[in-house]
Amino acid sequence: MYTNLKHFINGEWVESTGNETEDVINPATEESIGQISLGTKEDLDKAVQAAKAALPTFSRTSREERIEMLEKIAKGYEKRKDELVQVMTDELGAPLKFSEEVHYEMGLAHFKKTAEALKDYKFEEDYGNYKIIKETIGVSGLITPWNFPTNQTSTKIASAIAAGSPMVLKPAELTPFAAMILAEIIDEAGVPKGAFNLVNGTGSTIGDGISSHPDIDFVSFTGSAGVGEKIMQNAAKTIKKVALELGGKSPLIVLDDADIEEAAKIAVSHISLNSGQVCTAATRIIIPESMKKDFEEAMKKAVPSFPVGDPLDKNVVTGPLVAKKQWDRVQSYIEKGIDEGATLLTGGTGKPDGLEKGYYVKPTIFTDVSNDMVIAQEEIFGPVTTVITYKDLDEALEIANDTVYGLAGYVVGEDQETLDYVAKNIRAGQIVVNDAEQDRSAPFGGFKQSGIGREWGAFGIEEYLEPKSVFGVKVPAKA
Ligand code: NAD
Repeated sequence: MYTNLKHFINGEWVESTGNETEDVINPATEESIGQISLGTKEDLDKAVQAAKAALPTFSRTSREERIEMLEKIAKGYEKRKDELVQVMTDELGAPLKFSEEVHYEMGLAHFKKTAEALKDYKFEEDYGNYKIIKETIGVSGLITPWNFPTNQTSTKIASAIAAGSPMVLKPAELTPFAAMILAEIIDEAGVPKGAFNLVNGTGSTIGDGISSHPDIDFVSFTGSAGVGEKIMQNAAKTIKKVALELGGKSPLIVLDDADIEEAAKIAVSHISLNSGQVCTAATRIIIPESMKKDFEEAMKKAVPSFPVGDPLDKNVVTGPLVAKKQWDRVQSYIEKGIDEGATLLTGGTGKPDGLEKGYYVKPTIFTDVSNDMVIAQEEIFGPVTTVITYKDLDEALEIANDTVYGLAGYVVGEDQETLDYVAKNIRAGQIVVNDAEQDRSAPFGGFKQSGIGREWGAFGIEEYLEPKSVFGVKVPAKA
Protein backbone atom coordinates (compact mmCIF):
# COMPACT_ATOMS: atom_id res chain seq x y z
CA MET A 1 0.00 0.00 0.00
CA TYR A 2 1.19 3.47 -0.91
CA THR A 3 -0.89 5.44 1.65
CA ASN A 4 0.58 8.84 2.53
CA LEU A 5 -1.90 11.27 4.06
CA LYS A 6 0.53 14.18 4.24
CA HIS A 7 1.35 17.08 1.94
CA PHE A 8 4.90 18.27 1.29
CA ILE A 9 5.11 21.88 2.47
CA ASN A 10 8.17 24.00 3.28
CA GLY A 11 10.56 21.05 3.18
CA GLU A 12 8.49 18.73 5.38
CA TRP A 13 5.69 16.19 5.14
CA VAL A 14 2.83 17.77 7.09
CA GLU A 15 -0.63 16.64 8.19
CA SER A 16 -3.59 17.88 6.19
CA THR A 17 -5.73 20.47 7.96
CA GLY A 18 -8.85 18.68 6.70
CA ASN A 19 -9.88 15.10 7.30
CA GLU A 20 -11.13 14.09 3.88
CA THR A 21 -9.27 11.25 2.23
CA GLU A 22 -9.57 9.44 -1.09
CA ASP A 23 -8.72 5.92 -2.21
CA VAL A 24 -6.46 5.52 -5.22
CA ILE A 25 -7.68 2.63 -7.34
CA ASN A 26 -5.60 0.19 -9.40
CA PRO A 27 -7.58 0.17 -12.66
CA ALA A 28 -6.57 -3.40 -13.49
CA THR A 29 -7.86 -4.89 -10.22
CA GLU A 30 -10.44 -2.20 -9.30
CA GLU A 31 -8.97 -2.35 -5.78
CA SER A 32 -7.52 0.39 -3.58
CA ILE A 33 -3.73 0.71 -3.52
CA GLY A 34 -3.68 3.39 -0.83
CA GLN A 35 -5.09 6.70 0.25
CA ILE A 36 -4.25 10.38 0.01
CA SER A 37 -5.63 13.39 1.83
CA LEU A 38 -7.74 15.83 -0.07
CA GLY A 39 -6.12 19.10 0.90
CA THR A 40 -7.94 22.25 1.95
CA LYS A 41 -7.55 25.88 0.89
CA GLU A 42 -5.66 26.35 4.17
CA ASP A 43 -3.13 23.64 3.17
CA LEU A 44 -2.73 25.32 -0.19
CA ASP A 45 -2.21 28.72 1.36
CA LYS A 46 0.53 27.37 3.65
CA ALA A 47 2.29 25.94 0.60
CA VAL A 48 1.94 29.19 -1.35
CA GLN A 49 3.31 31.21 1.58
CA ALA A 50 6.28 28.83 1.85
CA ALA A 51 6.97 29.28 -1.87
CA LYS A 52 6.61 33.05 -1.59
CA ALA A 53 9.07 33.12 1.31
CA ALA A 54 11.54 31.05 -0.72
CA LEU A 55 11.32 33.36 -3.75
CA PRO A 56 14.03 35.94 -2.90
CA THR A 57 16.72 33.31 -2.27
CA PHE A 58 15.63 30.64 -4.75
CA SER A 59 15.35 33.14 -7.60
CA ARG A 60 18.93 34.25 -6.92
CA THR A 61 20.48 30.80 -7.00
CA SER A 62 23.16 30.54 -9.66
CA ARG A 63 22.92 28.65 -12.93
CA GLU A 64 25.46 26.16 -11.53
CA GLU A 65 23.43 25.54 -8.38
CA ARG A 66 20.29 24.87 -10.42
CA ILE A 67 22.14 22.53 -12.79
CA GLU A 68 23.44 20.66 -9.77
CA MET A 69 19.92 20.34 -8.33
CA LEU A 70 18.56 18.99 -11.63
CA GLU A 71 21.43 16.53 -12.00
CA LYS A 72 20.99 15.30 -8.43
CA ILE A 73 17.27 14.83 -8.99
CA ALA A 74 18.02 12.84 -12.16
CA LYS A 75 20.38 10.61 -10.15
CA GLY A 76 17.84 10.14 -7.33
CA TYR A 77 15.19 9.35 -9.93
CA GLU A 78 17.42 6.70 -11.50
CA LYS A 79 18.05 5.14 -8.09
CA ARG A 80 14.32 4.68 -7.55
CA LYS A 81 13.61 3.32 -11.02
CA ASP A 82 11.94 0.06 -9.93
CA GLU A 83 9.60 1.85 -7.55
CA LEU A 84 8.63 4.50 -10.12
CA VAL A 85 7.98 1.89 -12.82
CA GLN A 86 5.83 -0.16 -10.44
CA VAL A 87 3.84 2.75 -9.05
CA MET A 88 2.81 3.90 -12.55
CA THR A 89 1.65 0.39 -13.34
CA ASP A 90 -0.31 0.26 -10.09
CA GLU A 91 -1.98 3.67 -10.18
CA LEU A 92 -2.41 4.22 -13.92
CA GLY A 93 -2.58 0.63 -15.21
CA ALA A 94 0.37 1.21 -17.55
CA PRO A 95 1.83 -2.11 -18.75
CA LEU A 96 5.17 -2.69 -16.99
CA LYS A 97 7.15 -2.53 -20.23
CA PHE A 98 5.55 0.79 -21.24
CA SER A 99 5.92 2.12 -17.71
CA GLU A 100 9.65 1.42 -17.86
CA GLU A 101 10.41 2.32 -21.46
CA VAL A 102 8.20 5.37 -21.82
CA HIS A 103 6.79 6.78 -18.56
CA TYR A 104 9.96 6.36 -16.53
CA GLU A 105 12.26 7.46 -19.35
CA MET A 106 10.24 10.57 -20.24
CA GLY A 107 10.29 11.78 -16.65
CA LEU A 108 14.04 11.27 -16.45
CA ALA A 109 14.68 12.93 -19.82
CA HIS A 110 13.11 16.20 -18.64
CA PHE A 111 15.55 16.59 -15.73
CA LYS A 112 18.51 15.74 -17.94
CA LYS A 113 17.47 17.78 -21.00
CA THR A 114 16.53 20.79 -18.90
CA ALA A 115 19.91 20.70 -17.13
CA GLU A 116 21.56 20.61 -20.56
CA ALA A 117 19.43 23.47 -21.90
CA LEU A 118 20.27 25.49 -18.81
CA LYS A 119 24.01 25.20 -19.45
CA ASP A 120 23.89 27.73 -22.27
CA TYR A 121 20.56 29.41 -21.66
CA LYS A 122 20.89 33.17 -22.14
CA PHE A 123 19.51 34.91 -19.05
CA GLU A 124 21.08 38.16 -20.19
CA GLU A 125 21.39 39.51 -23.71
CA ASP A 126 23.23 42.62 -24.75
CA TYR A 127 21.59 44.75 -27.46
CA GLY A 128 24.19 47.51 -27.51
CA ASN A 129 22.28 50.45 -26.00
CA TYR A 130 20.20 48.26 -23.71
CA LYS A 131 20.13 44.77 -22.29
CA ILE A 132 17.45 42.22 -21.61
CA ILE A 133 17.54 40.31 -18.35
CA LYS A 134 15.26 37.30 -17.99
CA GLU A 135 14.10 37.02 -14.38
CA THR A 136 12.08 34.45 -12.48
CA ILE A 137 8.38 35.04 -12.98
CA GLY A 138 7.63 34.51 -9.28
CA VAL A 139 5.72 31.67 -7.60
CA SER A 140 4.39 29.00 -9.96
CA GLY A 141 1.36 26.76 -9.56
CA LEU A 142 1.57 23.42 -11.39
CA ILE A 143 -1.55 21.38 -12.11
CA THR A 144 -1.08 18.02 -13.82
CA PRO A 145 -3.24 15.21 -15.30
CA TRP A 146 -3.04 11.47 -14.69
CA ASN A 147 -2.11 10.13 -18.13
CA PHE A 148 1.69 10.50 -17.83
CA PRO A 149 2.33 10.78 -14.09
CA THR A 150 6.07 11.50 -14.16
CA ASN A 151 6.35 13.11 -17.59
CA GLN A 152 3.78 15.83 -16.83
CA THR A 153 5.16 16.65 -13.38
CA SER A 154 8.87 16.42 -14.28
CA THR A 155 8.76 18.77 -17.25
CA LYS A 156 7.10 21.50 -15.18
CA ILE A 157 9.25 20.95 -12.07
CA ALA A 158 12.50 20.89 -14.08
CA SER A 159 11.65 24.13 -15.92
CA ALA A 160 10.62 25.88 -12.69
CA ILE A 161 13.88 24.88 -10.98
CA ALA A 162 15.90 26.00 -14.02
CA ALA A 163 14.20 29.40 -13.86
CA GLY A 164 14.51 29.69 -10.06
CA SER A 165 10.75 29.73 -9.56
CA PRO A 166 9.42 28.28 -6.27
CA MET A 167 6.40 26.09 -6.94
CA VAL A 168 3.29 24.40 -5.62
CA LEU A 169 2.34 21.19 -7.42
CA LYS A 170 -1.11 19.62 -7.40
CA PRO A 171 -0.84 16.22 -9.04
CA ALA A 172 -3.86 14.41 -10.47
CA GLU A 173 -5.81 12.75 -7.67
CA LEU A 174 -6.07 9.52 -9.72
CA THR A 175 -2.26 9.12 -9.89
CA PRO A 176 -0.68 10.96 -6.94
CA PHE A 177 1.87 8.43 -5.75
CA ALA A 178 4.48 8.81 -8.51
CA ALA A 179 4.48 12.55 -7.75
CA MET A 180 4.90 11.86 -4.02
CA ILE A 181 7.97 9.70 -4.72
CA LEU A 182 9.25 12.55 -6.87
CA ALA A 183 8.78 14.94 -3.92
CA GLU A 184 11.03 12.70 -1.80
CA ILE A 185 13.66 12.65 -4.57
CA ILE A 186 13.54 16.45 -4.90
CA ASP A 187 13.90 16.85 -1.14
CA GLU A 188 16.90 14.50 -1.03
CA ALA A 189 18.52 16.38 -3.93
CA GLY A 190 18.84 19.44 -1.71
CA VAL A 191 16.24 21.71 -3.31
CA PRO A 192 15.85 24.46 -0.68
CA LYS A 193 12.85 24.27 1.63
CA GLY A 194 9.82 26.11 0.31
CA ALA A 195 11.04 25.95 -3.29
CA PHE A 196 9.05 22.78 -4.00
CA ASN A 197 5.68 22.06 -2.37
CA LEU A 198 3.08 19.40 -3.13
CA VAL A 199 -0.55 19.58 -2.05
CA ASN A 200 -2.90 16.75 -2.95
CA GLY A 201 -6.56 17.38 -3.56
CA THR A 202 -9.38 17.86 -5.97
CA GLY A 203 -9.46 20.17 -8.95
CA SER A 204 -12.37 22.12 -7.53
CA THR A 205 -10.54 22.92 -4.25
CA ILE A 206 -6.77 22.89 -4.80
CA GLY A 207 -6.74 23.37 -8.59
CA ASP A 208 -9.22 26.19 -8.38
CA GLY A 209 -7.30 27.63 -5.40
CA ILE A 210 -4.05 27.68 -7.40
CA SER A 211 -5.56 29.44 -10.40
CA SER A 212 -7.13 32.15 -8.23
CA HIS A 213 -4.46 32.61 -5.53
CA PRO A 214 -3.20 36.22 -5.48
CA ASP A 215 0.34 35.13 -4.50
CA ILE A 216 0.76 32.77 -7.43
CA ASP A 217 2.19 34.55 -10.46
CA PHE A 218 2.04 31.83 -13.08
CA VAL A 219 -0.03 28.68 -13.60
CA SER A 220 1.22 25.84 -15.76
CA PHE A 221 -1.65 23.46 -16.44
CA THR A 222 -1.91 20.25 -18.41
CA GLY A 223 -5.33 18.69 -18.78
CA SER A 224 -8.63 19.01 -20.57
CA ALA A 225 -9.71 22.03 -22.61
CA GLY A 226 -12.75 22.59 -20.37
CA VAL A 227 -10.67 22.90 -17.21
CA GLY A 228 -8.09 24.98 -19.13
CA GLU A 229 -10.82 27.49 -19.89
CA LYS A 230 -11.84 27.69 -16.20
CA ILE A 231 -8.21 28.21 -15.18
CA MET A 232 -7.83 31.05 -17.66
CA GLN A 233 -11.00 32.71 -16.37
CA ASN A 234 -9.84 32.40 -12.77
CA ALA A 235 -6.33 33.59 -13.57
CA ALA A 236 -7.73 36.66 -15.31
CA LYS A 237 -8.88 38.06 -11.96
CA THR A 238 -5.29 38.55 -10.81
CA ILE A 239 -3.77 38.90 -14.33
CA LYS A 240 -1.75 35.71 -13.94
CA LYS A 241 0.18 34.32 -16.83
CA VAL A 242 -1.03 30.85 -17.83
CA ALA A 243 0.52 28.08 -19.89
CA LEU A 244 -2.01 25.50 -21.02
CA GLU A 245 -1.28 22.10 -22.52
CA LEU A 246 -4.69 20.83 -23.52
CA GLY A 247 -6.32 18.20 -25.69
CA GLY A 248 -5.99 17.10 -29.28
CA LYS A 249 -7.64 15.28 -32.15
CA SER A 250 -4.54 14.81 -34.20
CA PRO A 251 -4.51 13.75 -37.85
CA LEU A 252 -2.27 11.14 -39.43
CA ILE A 253 -2.08 11.63 -43.18
CA VAL A 254 -1.10 8.53 -45.13
CA LEU A 255 0.36 9.46 -48.53
CA ASP A 256 -0.39 7.36 -51.60
CA ASP A 257 3.22 6.13 -51.80
CA ALA A 258 3.26 4.91 -48.17
CA ASP A 259 3.92 1.31 -47.18
CA ILE A 260 0.37 0.28 -46.25
CA GLU A 261 1.29 -2.33 -43.61
CA GLU A 262 3.75 0.03 -41.94
CA ALA A 263 1.32 2.97 -41.94
CA ALA A 264 -1.49 0.80 -40.54
CA LYS A 265 0.75 -0.42 -37.75
CA ILE A 266 1.67 3.16 -36.82
CA ALA A 267 -2.03 4.09 -36.84
CA VAL A 268 -2.95 1.23 -34.49
CA SER A 269 0.00 1.99 -32.18
CA HIS A 270 -1.52 5.41 -31.51
CA ILE A 271 -4.61 3.96 -29.85
CA SER A 272 -2.79 1.07 -28.18
CA LEU A 273 0.06 2.78 -26.36
CA ASN A 274 -1.10 4.07 -22.96
CA SER A 275 -4.51 2.70 -24.04
CA GLY A 276 -4.92 5.74 -26.29
CA GLN A 277 -4.80 8.07 -23.26
CA VAL A 278 -2.31 10.34 -25.00
CA CYS A 279 -3.00 13.98 -25.80
CA THR A 280 -0.92 13.76 -29.00
CA ALA A 281 -2.46 10.47 -30.21
CA ALA A 282 -3.38 10.40 -33.89
CA THR A 283 -7.08 9.54 -33.87
CA ARG A 284 -8.05 10.63 -37.38
CA ILE A 285 -6.34 8.41 -39.92
CA ILE A 286 -6.64 10.20 -43.25
CA ILE A 287 -5.98 7.82 -46.17
CA PRO A 288 -6.26 7.97 -49.99
CA GLU A 289 -9.66 6.72 -51.18
CA SER A 290 -7.92 4.26 -53.50
CA MET A 291 -6.17 2.62 -50.53
CA LYS A 292 -9.30 2.12 -48.41
CA LYS A 293 -9.83 -1.65 -48.72
CA ASP A 294 -6.17 -2.61 -48.34
CA PHE A 295 -5.64 -0.19 -45.48
CA GLU A 296 -8.65 -1.49 -43.55
CA GLU A 297 -7.35 -5.05 -43.94
CA ALA A 298 -3.87 -3.97 -42.80
CA MET A 299 -5.30 -2.21 -39.73
CA LYS A 300 -7.30 -5.28 -38.70
CA LYS A 301 -4.17 -7.36 -39.12
CA ALA A 302 -2.12 -4.96 -36.96
CA VAL A 303 -4.46 -5.01 -33.93
CA PRO A 304 -3.21 -8.34 -32.45
CA SER A 305 0.37 -7.00 -32.41
CA PHE A 306 -0.75 -4.79 -29.50
CA PRO A 307 -2.17 -7.32 -27.01
CA VAL A 308 -4.62 -6.05 -24.38
CA GLY A 309 -4.46 -7.40 -20.85
CA ASP A 310 -2.96 -7.40 -17.38
CA PRO A 311 -0.34 -4.63 -17.06
CA LEU A 312 1.85 -6.93 -14.99
CA ASP A 313 2.23 -9.27 -17.98
CA LYS A 314 5.44 -8.25 -19.77
CA ASN A 315 3.93 -9.13 -23.18
CA VAL A 316 0.94 -6.84 -22.79
CA VAL A 317 0.99 -3.55 -24.72
CA THR A 318 -2.44 -2.13 -23.89
CA GLY A 319 -3.66 -1.98 -20.29
CA PRO A 320 -6.97 -0.79 -18.86
CA LEU A 321 -8.21 2.81 -18.86
CA VAL A 322 -7.36 4.76 -15.70
CA ALA A 323 -10.82 4.81 -14.10
CA LYS A 324 -14.43 3.67 -14.37
CA LYS A 325 -15.46 7.22 -15.31
CA GLN A 326 -13.12 7.16 -18.32
CA TRP A 327 -14.36 3.68 -19.28
CA ASP A 328 -17.97 4.91 -19.29
CA ARG A 329 -17.01 7.97 -21.30
CA VAL A 330 -15.20 5.94 -23.95
CA GLN A 331 -18.12 3.46 -24.18
CA SER A 332 -20.51 6.32 -24.85
CA TYR A 333 -18.29 7.58 -27.70
CA ILE A 334 -18.26 4.09 -29.24
CA GLU A 335 -22.07 4.05 -29.06
CA LYS A 336 -22.12 7.53 -30.56
CA GLY A 337 -19.97 6.40 -33.50
CA ILE A 338 -22.34 3.52 -34.21
CA ASP A 339 -25.36 5.87 -33.96
CA GLU A 340 -23.71 8.37 -36.29
CA GLY A 341 -23.46 5.69 -38.98
CA ALA A 342 -19.73 4.95 -38.93
CA THR A 343 -18.76 1.32 -39.65
CA LEU A 344 -17.07 -0.70 -36.90
CA LEU A 345 -14.04 -2.32 -38.45
CA THR A 346 -13.01 -3.96 -35.18
CA GLY A 347 -13.77 -3.59 -31.46
CA GLY A 348 -16.98 -2.08 -30.13
CA THR A 349 -18.67 -1.67 -26.76
CA GLY A 350 -18.15 -3.94 -23.76
CA LYS A 351 -15.00 -5.52 -22.35
CA PRO A 352 -12.56 -7.70 -24.29
CA ASP A 353 -13.09 -11.45 -23.80
CA GLY A 354 -11.67 -12.76 -20.53
CA LEU A 355 -11.09 -9.28 -19.05
CA GLU A 356 -14.23 -8.75 -17.01
CA LYS A 357 -12.40 -7.18 -14.05
CA GLY A 358 -10.53 -3.95 -14.76
CA TYR A 359 -11.41 -1.01 -16.99
CA TYR A 360 -10.42 -2.64 -20.27
CA VAL A 361 -11.69 -1.42 -23.65
CA LYS A 362 -11.61 -3.29 -26.96
CA PRO A 363 -9.30 -1.53 -29.44
CA THR A 364 -11.90 0.03 -31.71
CA ILE A 365 -11.50 1.21 -35.29
CA PHE A 366 -14.26 3.08 -37.09
CA THR A 367 -14.23 3.42 -40.85
CA ASP A 368 -16.58 5.27 -43.27
CA VAL A 369 -16.14 8.25 -40.97
CA SER A 370 -16.74 11.81 -42.10
CA ASN A 371 -14.78 14.54 -40.37
CA ASP A 372 -17.90 16.29 -39.05
CA MET A 373 -18.94 13.29 -36.94
CA VAL A 374 -18.62 13.68 -33.16
CA ILE A 375 -16.14 10.77 -33.04
CA ALA A 376 -13.89 12.70 -35.46
CA GLN A 377 -14.17 16.02 -33.66
CA GLU A 378 -14.05 15.26 -29.93
CA GLU A 379 -11.16 13.86 -27.95
CA ILE A 380 -12.15 10.32 -26.86
CA PHE A 381 -8.99 9.52 -24.83
CA GLY A 382 -9.13 5.76 -25.23
CA PRO A 383 -8.25 3.05 -27.76
CA VAL A 384 -10.65 4.35 -30.41
CA THR A 385 -9.69 5.68 -33.84
CA THR A 386 -11.37 6.82 -37.05
CA VAL A 387 -10.49 6.26 -40.71
CA ILE A 388 -11.38 9.05 -43.14
CA THR A 389 -10.67 9.00 -46.91
CA TYR A 390 -9.41 11.79 -49.19
CA LYS A 391 -9.30 12.33 -52.95
CA ASP A 392 -6.26 14.61 -53.23
CA LEU A 393 -3.66 16.16 -50.95
CA ASP A 394 -5.51 19.48 -50.66
CA GLU A 395 -8.52 17.65 -49.33
CA ALA A 396 -6.33 15.63 -46.92
CA LEU A 397 -4.91 18.86 -45.46
CA GLU A 398 -8.34 20.48 -45.31
CA ILE A 399 -9.63 17.52 -43.27
CA ALA A 400 -6.48 17.48 -41.10
CA ASN A 401 -6.93 21.15 -40.18
CA ASP A 402 -10.70 21.02 -39.76
CA THR A 403 -10.56 20.73 -35.97
CA VAL A 404 -10.52 23.14 -33.03
CA TYR A 405 -7.30 21.46 -31.89
CA GLY A 406 -3.71 21.74 -33.11
CA LEU A 407 -1.49 19.72 -30.83
CA ALA A 408 0.20 17.26 -33.19
CA GLY A 409 0.14 16.00 -36.78
CA TYR A 410 1.59 12.93 -38.43
CA VAL A 411 2.45 11.99 -41.99
CA VAL A 412 3.61 8.69 -43.44
CA GLY A 413 4.96 8.32 -47.00
CA GLU A 414 8.02 8.32 -49.25
CA ASP A 415 8.25 11.46 -51.37
CA GLN A 416 10.34 13.97 -49.44
CA GLU A 417 8.85 17.05 -51.06
CA THR A 418 5.31 15.95 -50.25
CA LEU A 419 6.30 15.05 -46.68
CA ASP A 420 7.78 18.55 -46.24
CA TYR A 421 4.70 20.15 -47.76
CA VAL A 422 2.37 18.30 -45.38
CA ALA A 423 4.60 19.03 -42.36
CA LYS A 424 4.45 22.73 -43.24
CA ASN A 425 0.72 22.84 -43.82
CA ILE A 426 -0.72 21.00 -40.83
CA ARG A 427 -1.51 23.63 -38.20
CA ALA A 428 -0.13 21.96 -35.08
CA GLY A 429 2.74 22.38 -32.61
CA GLN A 430 4.43 19.09 -33.33
CA ILE A 431 4.69 17.20 -36.61
CA VAL A 432 6.10 13.68 -36.78
CA VAL A 433 7.22 12.34 -40.15
CA ASN A 434 7.38 8.56 -40.62
CA ASP A 435 7.17 7.77 -36.92
CA ALA A 436 10.44 9.60 -36.14
CA GLU A 437 11.67 9.58 -32.56
CA GLN A 438 10.95 12.77 -30.61
CA ASP A 439 13.65 14.65 -28.77
CA ARG A 440 12.58 15.93 -25.34
CA SER A 441 14.42 19.21 -25.80
CA ALA A 442 12.22 20.33 -28.71
CA PRO A 443 9.39 22.74 -27.84
CA PHE A 444 6.14 20.96 -27.02
CA GLY A 445 2.70 22.61 -27.10
CA GLY A 446 -0.34 23.31 -29.17
CA PHE A 447 -1.81 25.63 -31.79
CA LYS A 448 -5.47 26.73 -31.60
CA GLN A 449 -7.48 25.26 -28.68
CA SER A 450 -4.72 22.79 -27.83
CA GLY A 451 -3.14 25.37 -25.64
CA ILE A 452 -0.92 28.33 -24.94
CA GLY A 453 2.83 28.21 -24.39
CA ARG A 454 5.49 25.54 -24.73
CA GLU A 455 7.18 23.00 -22.48
CA TRP A 456 10.46 21.01 -22.66
CA GLY A 457 14.05 22.25 -22.98
CA ALA A 458 14.87 25.94 -23.41
CA PHE A 459 11.30 26.87 -24.44
CA GLY A 460 10.03 25.29 -21.21
CA ILE A 461 12.42 27.38 -19.09
CA GLU A 462 11.33 30.54 -20.93
CA GLU A 463 7.73 30.17 -19.67
CA TYR A 464 8.86 30.65 -16.05
CA LEU A 465 10.74 33.88 -16.79
CA GLU A 466 9.88 37.53 -17.38
CA PRO A 467 12.04 39.64 -19.71
CA LYS A 468 13.22 42.93 -18.23
CA SER A 469 14.70 45.67 -20.44
CA VAL A 470 17.44 47.70 -18.83
CA PHE A 471 18.47 50.99 -20.45
CA GLY A 472 21.47 53.11 -19.64
CA VAL A 473 23.50 50.45 -17.87
CA LYS A 474 25.87 49.78 -20.70
CA VAL A 475 26.04 52.38 -23.46
CA PRO A 476 28.12 51.36 -26.46
CA ALA A 477 31.31 53.38 -27.11
CA LYS A 478 30.72 56.11 -29.70
CA ALA A 479 32.36 55.45 -33.07
P1 NAD B 1 -8.61 17.31 -16.25
O1 NAD B 1 -8.63 18.59 -16.94
O2 NAD B 1 -9.87 16.74 -15.76
O3 NAD B 1 -7.65 17.37 -14.97
C1 NAD B 1 -6.32 17.81 -15.03
C2 NAD B 1 -5.92 18.36 -13.68
O4 NAD B 1 -6.72 19.53 -13.43
C3 NAD B 1 -6.16 17.42 -12.52
O5 NAD B 1 -5.11 17.56 -11.58
C4 NAD B 1 -7.47 17.93 -11.93
O6 NAD B 1 -7.61 17.65 -10.55
C5 NAD B 1 -7.33 19.42 -12.16
N1 NAD B 1 -8.61 20.16 -12.19
C6 NAD B 1 -9.86 19.68 -12.40
N2 NAD B 1 -10.77 20.68 -12.29
C7 NAD B 1 -10.08 21.81 -12.03
C8 NAD B 1 -10.45 23.18 -11.82
N3 NAD B 1 -11.72 23.58 -11.86
N4 NAD B 1 -9.47 24.08 -11.60
C9 NAD B 1 -8.17 23.71 -11.58
N5 NAD B 1 -7.77 22.43 -11.73
C10 NAD B 1 -8.70 21.49 -11.96
O7 NAD B 1 -7.86 16.33 -17.23
P2 NAD B 1 -7.53 14.81 -17.03
O8 NAD B 1 -8.79 14.04 -17.22
O9 NAD B 1 -6.76 14.60 -15.77
O10 NAD B 1 -6.52 14.54 -18.24
C11 NAD B 1 -6.94 14.30 -19.52
C12 NAD B 1 -6.89 15.54 -20.38
O11 NAD B 1 -5.58 16.09 -20.34
C13 NAD B 1 -7.13 15.26 -21.84
O12 NAD B 1 -8.00 16.22 -22.38
C14 NAD B 1 -5.76 15.38 -22.48
O13 NAD B 1 -5.74 15.72 -23.82
C15 NAD B 1 -5.13 16.41 -21.66
N6 NAD B 1 -3.69 16.29 -21.74
C16 NAD B 1 -2.99 17.24 -22.44
C17 NAD B 1 -1.61 17.14 -22.58
C18 NAD B 1 -0.81 18.16 -23.32
O14 NAD B 1 0.37 18.26 -23.06
N7 NAD B 1 -1.37 18.92 -24.21
C19 NAD B 1 -0.96 16.08 -22.01
C20 NAD B 1 -1.70 15.13 -21.32
C21 NAD B 1 -3.07 15.26 -21.18
